[in-house]
Amino acid sequence: MYDNEARPGFKSGWGFSCLIGENVLFDTGADVSTLQYNMQKMKINLQEIEAVVLSHAHGDHTGGIEIVRQLGDVRVFVPASFFTPLKRKLSRFRNVEMVEVSDTTEIEEGIISTGEIGRIGEQSLIVHTSKGIVIVTGCSHPGLDTIMNIARRFGTIYGVVGGFHGFDKLEILRGVGMIVPCHCTRLKKRILSVFPKTSLQCAAGFVFNI
Ligand SMILES: [Zn+2]
Ligand SMILES: [Zn+2]
Repeated sequence: MYDNEARPGFKSGWGFSCLIGENVLFDTGADVSTLQYNMQKMKINLQEIEAVVLSHAHGDHTGGIEIVRQLGDVRVFVPASFFTPLKRKLSRFRNVEMVEVSDTTEIEEGIISTGEIGRIGEQSLIVHTSKGIVIVTGCSHPGLDTIMNIARRFGTIYGVVGGFHGFDKLEILRGVGMIVPCHCTRLKKRILSVFPKTSLQCAAGFVFNI
């Protein structure tokens, strides 16, 4: 829904957001107008969104939070150590129930938060699919390898999607069936060239069917 790159007809911006299934919105990008534009273009029914998960407090993931004004009653999952002014802002939306996450937490059936990890306090999602686990990350500040090790407790990793930040231990991606480097991934081009059969380009407007 929001990425540094965009398909023709969609808007790009430095940030990240994606919709998982019909009802879980992961991150909100840096601004609500770009997010809303892309969601409209994708013909997303905002009323079906039941949960918003904010990976970490950085503005390129939380800047579009005003999108909740257009949703029905919604739970917003934030890391427990989340920036206090942002928590306060969330508590002002009448339709929002804020859930603070420390340890692994079920967001809805088949979708689990890793809990907050690392100094920045970032959560990633573990999505159960028929092919295995798909990890969805915001920026991967704790390190993609750390996140993958936690996710492995829940099953075999089939895919990783999201911002991988400065991740450079490419060899650990060998055997992963679907690699989608998005947003802040520094080695995006190299990942796509090292894993031509298993990696996919990321951009706002793309849909990945698993
Ligand atoms: Zn970040
Ligand atoms: Zn980011």
